[in-house]
Amino acid sequence: AASIRLGGVTKSYGRLTVIPRLDVEFRAGEFTVVLGPSGCGKSTLMQMIAGLERVGGGRIVIGEREVQDLEPKERGCAMVFQNYALYPHMTVFDNIAYSLRIAGVTKGERRTRVELVARMLGLTDYLGRKPSQLSGGQRQRVAIGRAIVREPAVLLFDEPLSNLDAQLRHDTRVELAELHRRIGATTVFVTHDQVEAMTLADRILILNKGEIEQYDTPKAIYHNP
Ligand code: ADP
Ligand code: ADP
Repeated sequence: AASIRLGGVTKSYGRLTVIPRLDVEFRAGEFTVVLGPSGCGKSTLMQMIAGLERVGGGRIVIGEREVQDLEPKERGCAMVFQNYALYPHMTVFDNIAYSLRIAGVTKGERRTRVELVARMLGLTDYLGRKPSQLSGGQRQRVAIGRAIVREPAVLLFDEPLSNLDAQLRHDTRVELAELHRRIGATTVFVTHDQVEAMTLADRILILNKGEIEQYDTPKAIYHNP
Protein backbone atom coordinates (compact mmCIF):
# COMPACT_ATOMS: atom_id res chain seq x y z
CA ALA A 1 0.00 0.00 0.00
CA ALA A 2 1.07 3.59 -0.61
CA SER A 3 -0.05 6.89 0.89
CA ILE A 4 -1.67 9.50 -1.33
CA ARG A 5 -0.72 13.11 -0.61
CA LEU A 6 -2.32 16.13 -2.25
CA GLY A 7 -0.51 19.43 -1.84
CA GLY A 8 -2.17 22.69 -2.92
CA VAL A 9 -4.36 20.90 -5.47
CA THR A 10 -6.76 23.16 -7.36
CA LYS A 11 -9.29 22.50 -10.11
CA SER A 12 -11.61 24.64 -12.18
CA TYR A 13 -13.82 23.89 -15.16
CA GLY A 14 -13.81 27.17 -17.07
CA ARG A 15 -14.96 29.79 -14.58
CA LEU A 16 -16.36 27.22 -12.13
CA THR A 17 -13.90 26.60 -9.29
CA VAL A 18 -14.53 23.08 -8.00
CA ILE A 19 -11.47 22.68 -5.73
CA PRO A 20 -10.15 26.03 -4.45
CA ARG A 21 -7.12 24.46 -2.72
CA LEU A 22 -6.85 21.04 -1.17
CA ASP A 23 -4.16 19.68 1.13
CA VAL A 24 -4.81 16.18 2.40
CA GLU A 25 -3.10 12.84 3.01
CA PHE A 26 -4.77 9.45 2.64
CA ARG A 27 -2.63 7.18 4.77
CA ALA A 28 -1.13 3.96 3.44
CA GLY A 29 -3.45 1.00 3.89
CA GLU A 30 -6.37 3.02 5.25
CA PHE A 31 -9.94 2.90 3.98
CA THR A 32 -11.04 6.52 3.57
CA VAL A 33 -14.63 7.42 2.72
CA VAL A 34 -15.20 10.76 1.00
CA LEU A 35 -18.62 12.13 1.87
CA GLY A 36 -20.34 15.29 0.72
CA PRO A 37 -23.29 16.72 -1.20
CA SER A 38 -23.72 16.23 -4.92
CA GLY A 39 -21.48 18.59 -6.89
CA CYS A 40 -18.94 19.20 -4.09
CA GLY A 41 -16.09 17.76 -6.15
CA LYS A 42 -15.84 14.13 -4.98
CA SER A 43 -15.64 12.61 -8.48
CA THR A 44 -13.28 15.31 -9.64
CA LEU A 45 -10.96 14.51 -6.73
CA MET A 46 -10.95 10.79 -7.59
CA GLN A 47 -10.39 11.43 -11.29
CA MET A 48 -7.43 13.68 -10.56
CA ILE A 49 -5.85 10.97 -8.39
CA ALA A 50 -6.47 8.34 -11.09
CA GLY A 51 -5.23 10.67 -13.83
CA LEU A 52 -8.51 10.87 -15.74
CA GLU A 53 -8.65 14.64 -15.08
CA ARG A 54 -5.64 16.94 -14.88
CA VAL A 55 -5.03 19.01 -11.76
CA GLY A 56 -5.34 22.78 -12.22
CA GLY A 57 -2.34 23.22 -9.95
CA GLY A 58 -0.54 21.51 -7.09
CA ARG A 59 0.98 18.09 -6.53
CA ILE A 60 -0.26 14.55 -6.05
CA VAL A 61 2.24 12.12 -4.55
CA ILE A 62 1.49 8.38 -4.41
CA GLY A 63 4.00 6.58 -2.23
CA GLU A 64 7.23 8.39 -3.07
CA ARG A 65 6.28 9.35 -6.62
CA GLU A 66 4.89 12.63 -7.88
CA VAL A 67 2.17 11.51 -10.30
CA GLN A 68 0.18 14.55 -11.44
CA ASP A 69 1.88 14.52 -14.85
CA LEU A 70 1.85 10.74 -15.31
CA GLU A 71 -0.54 8.72 -17.47
CA PRO A 72 -3.30 6.86 -15.59
CA LYS A 73 -1.69 3.47 -16.18
CA GLU A 74 1.58 4.64 -14.62
CA ARG A 75 -0.01 5.65 -11.31
CA GLY A 76 -0.68 2.25 -9.72
CA CYS A 77 -4.36 3.11 -9.12
CA ALA A 78 -7.39 1.04 -10.03
CA MET A 79 -10.84 2.59 -10.14
CA VAL A 80 -14.35 1.12 -9.81
CA PHE A 81 -17.22 3.25 -11.08
CA GLN A 82 -20.94 3.27 -10.45
CA ASN A 83 -21.73 2.17 -14.02
CA TYR A 84 -19.20 -0.58 -14.15
CA ALA A 85 -18.78 -0.71 -17.98
CA LEU A 86 -17.74 -4.34 -18.45
CA TYR A 87 -16.79 -5.62 -21.90
CA PRO A 88 -20.11 -7.16 -23.01
CA HIS A 89 -18.65 -9.57 -25.57
CA MET A 90 -16.11 -11.04 -23.14
CA THR A 91 -16.65 -13.67 -20.45
CA VAL A 92 -16.23 -12.86 -16.77
CA PHE A 93 -12.84 -14.59 -16.89
CA ASP A 94 -11.66 -12.45 -19.79
CA ASN A 95 -13.06 -9.24 -18.29
CA ILE A 96 -11.06 -9.84 -15.12
CA ALA A 97 -7.98 -11.06 -17.02
CA TYR A 98 -7.97 -8.23 -19.56
CA SER A 99 -5.59 -5.85 -17.79
CA LEU A 100 -3.22 -8.72 -17.03
CA ARG A 101 -3.18 -9.67 -20.69
CA ILE A 102 -2.40 -6.05 -21.65
CA ALA A 103 0.38 -6.00 -19.05
CA GLY A 104 1.91 -9.13 -20.61
CA VAL A 105 1.26 -11.45 -17.67
CA THR A 106 1.70 -15.07 -18.82
CA LYS A 107 -1.27 -17.33 -19.46
CA GLY A 108 -0.68 -19.59 -16.46
CA GLU A 109 -0.19 -16.67 -14.10
CA ARG A 110 -3.34 -14.97 -15.46
CA ARG A 111 -5.34 -18.08 -14.75
CA THR A 112 -3.99 -18.37 -11.19
CA ARG A 113 -4.71 -14.74 -10.38
CA VAL A 114 -8.17 -14.62 -11.97
CA GLU A 115 -9.19 -17.79 -10.15
CA LEU A 116 -7.94 -16.40 -6.82
CA VAL A 117 -9.85 -13.15 -7.26
CA ALA A 118 -12.95 -15.08 -8.39
CA ARG A 119 -12.83 -17.15 -5.20
CA MET A 120 -12.52 -14.02 -3.06
CA LEU A 121 -15.59 -12.53 -4.75
CA GLY A 122 -17.73 -15.65 -5.07
CA LEU A 123 -17.52 -15.63 -8.87
CA THR A 124 -15.94 -19.04 -9.45
CA ASP A 125 -19.09 -20.53 -10.96
CA TYR A 126 -19.64 -17.58 -13.28
CA LEU A 127 -16.27 -17.28 -15.02
CA GLY A 128 -17.60 -18.63 -18.31
CA ARG A 129 -20.62 -16.29 -18.46
CA LYS A 130 -21.07 -13.02 -20.30
CA PRO A 131 -22.00 -9.89 -18.29
CA SER A 132 -25.53 -9.99 -19.73
CA GLN A 133 -26.02 -13.36 -17.99
CA LEU A 134 -25.25 -11.92 -14.54
CA SER A 135 -27.23 -10.04 -11.88
CA GLY A 136 -26.37 -6.43 -11.05
CA GLY A 137 -24.55 -7.49 -7.90
CA GLN A 138 -22.50 -10.07 -9.79
CA ARG A 139 -21.55 -7.50 -12.42
CA GLN A 140 -20.43 -5.12 -9.71
CA ARG A 141 -18.25 -7.92 -8.30
CA VAL A 142 -16.69 -8.47 -11.71
CA ALA A 143 -15.86 -4.76 -11.86
CA ILE A 144 -14.24 -5.03 -8.42
CA GLY A 145 -12.36 -8.17 -9.53
CA ARG A 146 -11.07 -6.40 -12.59
CA ALA A 147 -9.76 -3.59 -10.38
CA ILE A 148 -8.03 -5.74 -7.75
CA VAL A 149 -6.54 -8.43 -10.00
CA ARG A 150 -3.46 -6.29 -10.72
CA GLU A 151 -2.90 -5.79 -6.99
CA PRO A 152 -2.94 -1.98 -7.20
CA ALA A 153 -1.38 0.06 -4.41
CA VAL A 154 -4.41 2.35 -4.54
CA LEU A 155 -8.07 1.44 -5.03
CA LEU A 156 -10.55 4.18 -5.92
CA PHE A 157 -14.30 3.61 -5.72
CA ASP A 158 -16.72 6.21 -7.09
CA GLU A 159 -20.16 5.41 -5.63
CA PRO A 160 -19.82 1.75 -6.60
CA LEU A 161 -22.93 0.57 -4.75
CA SER A 162 -25.45 3.20 -5.72
CA ASN A 163 -27.08 1.11 -8.47
CA LEU A 164 -27.69 -1.85 -6.14
CA ASP A 165 -30.81 -2.56 -4.06
CA ALA A 166 -30.70 -2.21 -0.26
CA GLN A 167 -29.96 -5.85 0.57
CA LEU A 168 -27.22 -6.11 -2.03
CA ARG A 169 -25.68 -2.83 -0.92
CA HIS A 170 -25.49 -4.20 2.59
CA ASP A 171 -23.96 -7.52 1.51
CA THR A 172 -21.47 -5.89 -0.84
CA ARG A 173 -20.47 -3.44 1.90
CA VAL A 174 -19.67 -6.30 4.25
CA GLU A 175 -17.65 -8.02 1.53
CA LEU A 176 -15.74 -4.86 0.68
CA ALA A 177 -14.73 -4.39 4.30
CA GLU A 178 -13.50 -8.00 4.39
CA LEU A 179 -11.71 -7.60 1.07
CA HIS A 180 -9.92 -4.51 2.34
CA ARG A 181 -8.72 -6.42 5.40
CA ARG A 182 -7.30 -9.07 3.10
CA ILE A 183 -5.62 -6.99 0.41
CA GLY A 184 -4.76 -3.86 2.39
CA ALA A 185 -4.66 -1.46 -0.58
CA THR A 186 -5.02 2.21 0.25
CA THR A 187 -8.69 2.75 -0.53
CA VAL A 188 -10.65 5.91 -1.24
CA PHE A 189 -14.39 5.37 -1.49
CA VAL A 190 -16.82 8.08 -2.56
CA THR A 191 -20.42 7.99 -1.42
CA HIS A 192 -23.21 10.22 -0.20
CA ASP A 193 -24.52 7.44 2.06
CA GLN A 194 -23.73 8.08 5.73
CA VAL A 195 -24.28 4.47 6.76
CA GLU A 196 -21.74 3.32 4.17
CA ALA A 197 -19.31 5.92 5.49
CA MET A 198 -19.73 4.97 9.14
CA THR A 199 -19.41 1.22 8.56
CA LEU A 200 -16.59 1.13 6.01
CA ALA A 201 -14.26 3.97 6.92
CA ASP A 202 -11.07 4.04 8.94
CA ARG A 203 -11.34 7.77 8.32
CA ILE A 204 -14.00 10.00 6.81
CA LEU A 205 -13.29 13.08 4.71
CA ILE A 206 -16.27 15.42 4.50
CA LEU A 207 -16.03 17.79 1.57
CA ASN A 208 -18.08 20.91 0.98
CA LYS A 209 -17.55 22.98 -2.17
CA GLY A 210 -14.16 21.35 -2.69
CA GLU A 211 -12.94 22.17 0.83
CA ILE A 212 -12.39 19.96 3.86
CA GLU A 213 -15.15 20.30 6.43
CA GLN A 214 -14.02 17.39 8.62
CA TYR A 215 -11.39 14.66 8.35
CA ASP A 216 -11.45 12.22 11.21
CA THR A 217 -12.38 8.72 12.37
CA PRO A 218 -16.07 7.72 12.18
CA LYS A 219 -16.16 7.66 15.99
CA ALA A 220 -14.84 11.21 16.34
CA ILE A 221 -17.24 12.48 13.68
CA TYR A 222 -20.18 10.68 15.28
CA HIS A 223 -19.45 12.31 18.64
CA ASN A 224 -18.69 15.73 17.17
CA PRO A 225 -20.92 16.19 14.09
P1 ADP B 1 -19.55 15.19 -6.97
O1 ADP B 1 -18.82 13.95 -7.39
O2 ADP B 1 -19.26 15.60 -5.56
O3 ADP B 1 -21.02 15.12 -7.24
P2 ADP B 1 -18.21 16.40 -9.23
O4 ADP B 1 -16.75 16.32 -8.96
O5 ADP B 1 -18.80 15.41 -10.16
O6 ADP B 1 -18.99 16.41 -7.85
O7 ADP B 1 -18.55 17.83 -9.81
C1 ADP B 1 -18.15 19.04 -9.17
C2 ADP B 1 -18.63 20.22 -10.00
O8 ADP B 1 -17.90 20.25 -11.22
C3 ADP B 1 -20.10 20.15 -10.39
O9 ADP B 1 -20.61 21.46 -10.36
C4 ADP B 1 -20.06 19.61 -11.79
O10 ADP B 1 -21.17 20.05 -12.53
C5 ADP B 1 -18.77 20.20 -12.33
N1 ADP B 1 -18.12 19.36 -13.35
C6 ADP B 1 -17.70 18.09 -13.19
N2 ADP B 1 -17.10 17.61 -14.30
C7 ADP B 1 -17.15 18.64 -15.20
C8 ADP B 1 -16.69 18.79 -16.54
N3 ADP B 1 -16.05 17.81 -17.19
N4 ADP B 1 -16.89 19.99 -17.13
C9 ADP B 1 -17.51 21.00 -16.48
N5 ADP B 1 -17.97 20.91 -15.23
C10 ADP B 1 -17.79 19.76 -14.58
P1 ADP C 1 -5.69 -18.45 -24.22
O1 ADP C 1 -6.89 -17.54 -24.42
O2 ADP C 1 -4.42 -17.68 -24.31
O3 ADP C 1 -5.74 -19.71 -25.05
P2 ADP C 1 -6.27 -20.20 -21.90
O4 ADP C 1 -5.97 -21.43 -22.70
O5 ADP C 1 -5.73 -20.10 -20.51
O6 ADP C 1 -5.79 -18.86 -22.65
O7 ADP C 1 -7.82 -20.02 -21.79
C1 ADP C 1 -8.64 -19.91 -22.90
C2 ADP C 1 -9.88 -19.19 -22.49
O8 ADP C 1 -10.63 -20.05 -21.63
C3 ADP C 1 -9.60 -17.97 -21.63
O9 ADP C 1 -9.34 -16.81 -22.38
C4 ADP C 1 -10.90 -17.85 -20.87
O10 ADP C 1 -11.88 -17.22 -21.65
C5 ADP C 1 -11.29 -19.27 -20.65
N1 ADP C 1 -10.93 -19.76 -19.32
C6 ADP C 1 -9.74 -20.12 -18.83
N2 ADP C 1 -9.82 -20.54 -17.55
C7 ADP C 1 -11.12 -20.45 -17.23
C8 ADP C 1 -11.89 -20.73 -16.05
N3 ADP C 1 -11.33 -21.17 -14.91
N4 ADP C 1 -13.23 -20.50 -16.07
C9 ADP C 1 -13.81 -20.05 -17.19
N5 ADP C 1 -13.16 -19.77 -18.35
C10 ADP C 1 -11.83 -19.95 -18.36
